[in-house]
Amino acid sequence: MGEQVRVRIAPSPTGDPHVGTAYQALFNYAFAKGRGGKFILRIEDTDQARSTKESEDAILESLRWLGLQWDEGPDIDGPHGPYRQSERLAIYRQHAESLLKAGHAYRCFCTRERLDKMRTRQGPDTGYDRHCRNILPAESDKRASAGQPFVIRMKIPGEGVCVFQDLLRGEIRKDWALVDDQIIIKSDGFPTYHLAVVVDDHLMGITHVIRGEEWINSVPKHVKLYEYFGWDLPIFCHLPLLRNKDKSKLSKRKNPTSINYYRRAGFLPEALLNYLGLMGWAMPDGEDKFTLQQMLANLQLEKISLGGPVFDVDKLRWLNGRYIREDFSPRALQEKLESWALNRERIGRIIPLVQPRLETLADWGHLTAAFFADEVPFDPQQLKIKGKAPQEVAEILQFSVWRLEEQGGFSAKALDALFRNMAVTLELKLRDLLAPFFVALSGRRVWTPLFDSMEILGSDMVRMRLRRAIEALGGVSGKKLKKLEKEYSVLFGRRD
Ligand code: GLU
Repeated sequence: MGEQVRVRIAPSPTGDPHVGTAYQALFNYAFAKGRGGKFILRIEDTDQARSTKESEDAILESLRWLGLQWDEGPDIDGPHGPYRQSERLAIYRQHAESLLKAGHAYRCFCTRERLDKMRTRQGPDTGYDRHCRNILPAESDKRASAGQPFVIRMKIPGEGVCVFQDLLRGEIRKDWALVDDQIIIKSDGFPTYHLAVVVDDHLMGITHVIRGEEWINSVPKHVKLYEYFGWDLPIFCHLPLLRNKDKSKLSKRKNPTSINYYRRAGFLPEALLNYLGLMGWAMPDGEDKFTLQQMLANLQLEKISLGGPVFDVDKLRWLNGRYIREDFSPRALQEKLESWALNRERIGRIIPLVQPRLETLADWGHLTAAFFADEVPFDPQQLKIKGKAPQEVAEILQFSVWRLEEQGGFSAKALDALFRNMAVTLELKLRDLLAPFFVALSGRRVWTPLFDSMEILGSDMVRMRLRRAIEALGGVSGKKLKKLEKEYSVLFGRRD
């Protein structure tokens, strides 16, 4: 047997756990486990401004829910730790230093003003003009010790072609002239993705880099770094991107992308995995329904097709239905429903909210239906705010989705503060502002107290229902969306 297979996923903890991460995790996991290999989870949190612990926890939790357990990772450690990039800064610095010493990298002292001027002169999409590349090492050392701020850039050849192999695409060629002298250490001392990913994949003994195709363009920089360090390349395999039905890149405006949403909406982890397994791949016998065990016994990466797999929620629902009908006894299904939402804990949280509104016990049914549903039917005509046109209501709902995305916690108290603040900013009465939220979230104009109810529904389900309401009002997209983003940043502060 050859060398042991070691693969990894390397999510950045900057938002909801994404189905794209689950997709990559599945193929990495199945490939490694089908070959007695190891599956590693590494957290790429070098973007300090956008990374959060909450997001990291949510990613780990959603992968556990899917049953894709890693062999080494930030929570269990392993022989090549730490597995969180923010804890490996000294390692990156040391490697950047060695590139500096060898003349493969250089300090760049260019100020923002100079770079802005350069861009105005050359056009916005041009790379760095390599102004600092010729500063003599002694001079560079002197300026650095004098405390002048700098970044470190890697040297990219001015001409020639970079040639590398992708397992699914064969040979890929890119002119070096099109590649920039990439920053590898930022002015805050943190590495960029490019340096960190190469150093970590090498030190963690990764044999196959299986990830999304959006990274292909970065590979030449990585190939050069491997060469500078004198390391062997891993095998690169770039998976196709998941697509919306209209073939655009999977986006939350057109499709739910958060794994938590699917969990909340009553999808089964085994069905979701099975469906993701059908994205660009098929069992040799063509059967649609298969287990993870069957997938890993049959997966050959070379068989993945690049046609741009469409993630179609209706098909996923159909497959999920097959699991529910075919794989559960009524007793087992009862247990599943209980662990999903029909349990004492959840019902116990809902009771105090509905008790003041019950005249008969049977009122329970219609008053609480929205807590146990995915989509709730509503009349778009009822999505109203006093004095606002439907399009403006859609825009306000969109603002709220962005506010909720930026919001750390999702407690009733935090929501109360968020909406009060929104009402002040938008110069609306709180009551008027909240009216369409009742309709979008419950299908009714009167419901249980809004913020407590939202807390129980959870952030992903709330945002999903709000997006559906926005669509029902005609949606915000294209130019309108750009304009709205600007308006939002003026009203509420910057959105990244
Ligand atoms: N941190 C990158 C991401 O979030 C990982 C890319 C890679 O796998 O190399 O997608």
